[in-house]
Formats: sequence, structure tokens, C-alpha cells
Amino acid sequence: MKNTYLEKQYQAFKKRYPNEKEYLQALHHVLVSVDHIIDDHPEYEAYNVVERLMEPERVIAFKVTWLDDDNRVQVNRGYRVQHSALIGPYKGGLRFHPSVTQSVLKFLAFEQTFKNSLTNLAMGGGKGGSDFDPKGKSDREIMSFCQAYMRELFHHMGEDVDVPAGDIGVGQREIGYLYGYYKKLTNQVTKSITGKDTSIGGSLVRKEATGYGLAYFVNAALKKMKNTSLKDKRVIISGSGNVAIYAAEMVRELGGTVIAMSDSSGYIHCEKGVDLDAIKTIKEEKRDRIETYPDYDANGKYHEDPRHMWTIDADIALPCATQNELDEDAVKHLVDNEVIMVAEGANMPTTEEGIALLKKHNIIFAPGKAANAGGVLVSGLEMAQHAQFTTWTFDKINEKLKSHMEKIFEDIYKTAKDYGENDDLQFGVNVHSFKKLAKAMIQQGIV
Ligand code: NDP
Repeated sequence: MKNTYLEKQYQAFKKRYPNEKEYLQALHHVLVSVDHIIDDHPEYEAYNVVERLMEPERVIAFKVTWLDDDNRVQVNRGYRVQHSALIGPYKGGLRFHPSVTQSVLKFLAFEQTFKNSLTNLAMGGGKGGSDFDPKGKSDREIMSFCQAYMRELFHHMGEDVDVPAGDIGVGQREIGYLYGYYKKLTNQVTKSITGKDTSIGGSLVRKEATGYGLAYFVNAALKKMKNTSLKDKRVIISGSGNVAIYAAEMVRELGGTVIAMSDSSGYIHCEKGVDLDAIKTIKEEKRDRIETYPDYDANGKYHEDPRHMWTIDADIALPCATQNELDEDAVKHLVDNEVIMVAEGANMPTTEEGIALLKKHNIIFAPGKAANAGGVLVSGLEMAQHAQFTTWTFDKINEKLKSHMEKIFEDIYKTAKDYGENDDLQFGVNVHSFKKLAKAMIQQGIV
């Protein structure tokens, strides 16, 4: 970084949190963009906005003790990172996965703060979770864990305080158990958790929101930046969870063909187009492995090692699984295959080296902070419906989702253009959100 204040802050954080590599990576992404504009904003240093925005407001870490089916006592680590309430209550999902650490949740909460500011809804940023592994657990064990986790988390939640939702390993089943127990503990039917099934007060389109929103964003970007659309494009999507499945559904709806999807063990390649009903049966109903796909559709071939999926010749790549899954080597294949766009359904799935290579080859790169904002956006709409004591139709919410995603694209595209950074959507999203958050911070004084 050229600016000495920014560089000094970044070095100080590296010293303060030497083992938190994902968190430092997320900070670095933003600081590099802010470096281009900071000389025009002396107030950022005067109010020490950068350090105040990087450091989470609160990190809660706790022990989660629960009983498995053999009546053995199990212990996991639980967390909630309340990163920023500058523009509304802390808002962001819960992740249950063995890879969860404080660093992972701090990066996610930091990015969530930026993402939520783009939606123009009053939501701050947070993220939580546990190193609990839901894979292979019975329903009863999942419930036991969710209840134990909530026994601590409920102290820190509330509709005007902190409103969690789902993420990796936390779908409608887990949200149901968390919500049920929250009500038991507080004796309140509350609006303080989103992502619920519609039968218990959730919003239509929430399940589809992140994936659909991603496809809407991609379509808007392709139209403006390449004068084309998803129609007739061949698309590869990593993951086969909530985001991946509904991204695939909307890609298909908009005329594209999804030719590959993966899970953490391997991937399926199907040139005729992946059979989404089969994927939903395998992943949503049976909670099984993608390896079984050829049992449902003989056109699909299974291969081990999901990283090889990026070698498939395609027009568009949508990483929708996890952080740092798309590295420089993988991007080299995308470049060789002349991919025109990479849009992140997952949070920070592309490494810094991978992003640099995409930009070098003028491949449109859409960062997750913007491209996957559809999920939290419809969570915000779930809160709005609660507040009005009403429910909206699927079509109405879907239309709002589409128009909001198009607006997010327009906002960040314009910011990039205004600063002469042309098609750099990463610059656009970082600077657009940073300026908004910095303004909110300065207006609220030194607190
Ligand atoms: P899910 O748990 O529903 O699905 C995750 C999927 O990714 C699973 O298919 C999983 O496979 C797969 N996966 C994990 N690691 C790898 C890997 N290394 N290679 C290939 N596949 C892998 O999670 P979500 O779909 O909800 O979340 C996915 C990403 O999207 C995360 O980064 C999340 O933070 C982000 N996101 C989610 C939102 C939401 O609304 N759910 C909103 C915004 C962002 P397996 O079953 O084998 O583990």
C-alpha cells in the first residue's frame, strides 16, 4: 500500500493477529482498494476510521457441551463475532463446520458488514458458528447441539441487537431447532432469527435467495459489461449446497446450462446439463454424496477431487462452496478455457493470486460481498414482513430480490467508473461500502 497510515494499520493487525490468516486476507482485499482514494479523505485518518472498521466490536467465544446418541458428553467451541452495528443490528449467518475458527468467523463478519451496507437495508454485520461437524450426525444429535449452542447465544441476540441466520451446515432444519429453543428460553415469539421455514414464520424465496441473486447479478453484469447474458452460456458451479443449487436453478431459468457441480469429495460433469431434481434429491432429501449422481442420470460422470472441476471448458465459473477454493492454478485453467466471468456465490472463494490473474486477463470478477448479497437481502425482507405483520407473495419477493441485485451491480459499477477503475468490480464494492460505513461512523462520534 502506498498510503503510510493504511500500511501502518495493516502491519499492526498482522502483529496483533498473526495466526488469523483468513481475517488478514479479507482486510487486505479492502485496504488495497481504499489505498486508491484515501488521499482525498483526510478525515479517515483524523477519525482513525480504518482501525475502527477493521476491529470487530465484540467477539464472543464459548464452550458448547452436548450429549450424543450414546450419551457421551461432547464439547465444541462456539462463537459469535459482532463486527459492526453502525447501520443496524448485527446480522449474519451461523456456520457449523470443523474448519470454523475465530479467524474464519472474523473474516466472514467483516465482509458481512460491507455486504449488508450494499443492500440499503438497516443491517450491521456479524457472523457466528462452531467447529461442530453436522455430517453423519442423527437428527437428535443435531437438535441436542443446536440447543446447547443456543443456551449461550441467546444472551447476545435480539431483534434490535443481533439477528443470526444460516450458512454452511446451518439450513432450515438447524434454524428450526435454534429458533424453537430460543423461544423456550426467552418466552418470546421473536423476529431475532431469519432463514426459518415458511411454516414457522420464514419468508418465501429465502431458501432460493443467495443463488437466484447471484444469477441476477451475473446477468446484469454480462449485459452491461459484455453486451450478452446467461442465455446459452455453459456454467460450472462448485458446491451442491443451498447457494449452488439455487444458483443452478436460476442459471437454467435464464437460459444457461450448468455442466458441472461438486461437493467436498468430488464433482459431476454432465455436458447435457446437470439434472437439478437429482441433485436436490441427493443433497436436500437424502443428505447424500454427489458421487451417487450417476445412479439418477447416466449422462453424468463422477470424478474424485473437486479441484479438477475447474479444468472443464466453460463460459462462466461460479464458486459457491467455501473460502479459498479457487486458487491461482485453478484460475490458470479458467484463463486457458477463455472463461468470461467469475462470480462468487461463496464468501472469499478466490485467493488474492487468483483474483490478480483474473484481472490481468480481463475476466469479469464479481466479489461475493456483492454477488452473494441476495441471501441477507431476503433475510432483511423477512424482518420487514415480520415488522409489518404480513407476508408477501413469492413473485413480489423475487422481483424485489432481482431489482435489488441489479441496483447493487449498478452502484458498484458506477463507483468503479467514477474513480476511473473501469471494470474493476472489486474496487467498486470495497470503495462503495467503505465510504458508506466511514460516513456512518463519523456521524455517530467516537464511541
Ligand atoms: P451448504 O452447507 O449448504 O453447502 C456447502 C457446499 O459446498 C456443500 O455441497 C459442500 O460439500 C461443498 N463444499 C465444501 N467444501 C468444498 C470444497 N473444498 N470443494 C467443493 N465443495 C465443497 O452451504 P451454503 O451453500 O449455504 O454456503 C456456501 C457458501 O456460500 C459459503 O461460503 C457461505 O458463506 C456462502 N454464503 C451462503 C449464504 C446462504 O444464504 N446460505 C449467503 C451468502 C453466502 P460437502 O457436503 O461435501 O461438505
